[in-house]
Amino acid sequence: MLESNVEGVEQSVSTGTLPEWERVDSLVVASHERNRACRDGAVADYIPVLARADPELFGLCVVEVDGGVHVAGQADVEFSIQSISKAFVYALVCEEYGHAAVADLVGVNNTGLAFNSVMAIELNDGHPMNPMVNAGALATTALMPGSTPDEQWKAVQSGLSAFAGRALEVDEEVYQSEAATNTRNRAIAGLLESYGRIDRHPQQVVDVYTRQCSLRVSARDLALMGATLADGGVNPVTGQRVVSADVCRDTLAVLAANGLYERSGEWLFEIGLPGKSGVSGGLLTVSPGKAGIGAFSPRLDRAGNSVRGQQATAYLSRVLGLNIFASQACAPQAGPAGAR
Ligand code: GLU
Repeated sequence: MLESNVEGVEQSVSTGTLPEWERVDSLVVASHERNRACRDGAVADYIPVLARADPELFGLCVVEVDGGVHVAGQADVEFSIQSISKAFVYALVCEEYGHAAVADLVGVNNTGLAFNSVMAIELNDGHPMNPMVNAGALATTALMPGSTPDEQWKAVQSGLSAFAGRALEVDEEVYQSEAATNTRNRAIAGLLESYGRIDRHPQQVVDVYTRQCSLRVSARDLALMGATLADGGVNPVTGQRVVSADVCRDTLAVLAANGLYERSGEWLFEIGLPGKSGVSGGLLTVSPGKAGIGAFSPRLDRAGNSVRGQQATAYLSRVLGLNIFASQACAPQAGPAGAR
């Protein structure tokens, strides 16, 4: 495996800044306005309670790394965090075990297959491949500190709450609905156990994972959780250090490669930012050193990503200058630095 943490060498960081406050504020409202009429996509129905979500809901929020907040639409409506929880549990586990150990145990490469694929596990000799698919997420949750499932759950809940800057609670209806129907996740956990990839009771791991997916958040919460990852691991509103800057960097790299299911490549190509979506319609995007973006709209594309969330974020990435791959030619009069 490549190793970027060269001992004794400080990592320097270069990110840039957002446009001025009023401009960000008006562009967040403009992005919401532009995409409100879109009716493309369909609400997820494989977890029964999710099928009842109001498809018209649409909230958008940007939280800057200085804690400033910009909102549009229903940014305070709560929904279950679902797969977006995987990003934060991964960060917490990396904080505990370190860069190399987690990369080795869980992996960082895209499977190119659906998030709940059993075939991906079989094709890779039982390796879960990455923490954003269910196999990798279950393997990651199994690594959470705690000697009992209850202690592990408490560590997940308090860890995600620290990212959000408030106590997050489980949506009991979502939890019960998913717990009653998640036979596939139970099968995946059993398979991981058979390959020696988890050493906890597989069904107890599924239970902690199902609770973590049922935590209630809003677009505003997602934006602040994202801003914490954008801010080197310090929550910009509470001032609490939740994880290290190195862990944020690692987590964002994993999101860039795997955050939007099988459409992760297209997302990176179009938006140029690390992100993570969930099947209830949430979408978290992070602009390192600048801001977190939270979007919520329940209609999904075929891979499971919020359609309006992606469009609204694409617009913001462009107009706010967030695409991490974009550059402009150096001003001609400046010349090479050595010649000045
Ligand atoms: N709890 C969901 C599952 O495990 C999360 C799926 C998702 O948001 O991708 O199926």
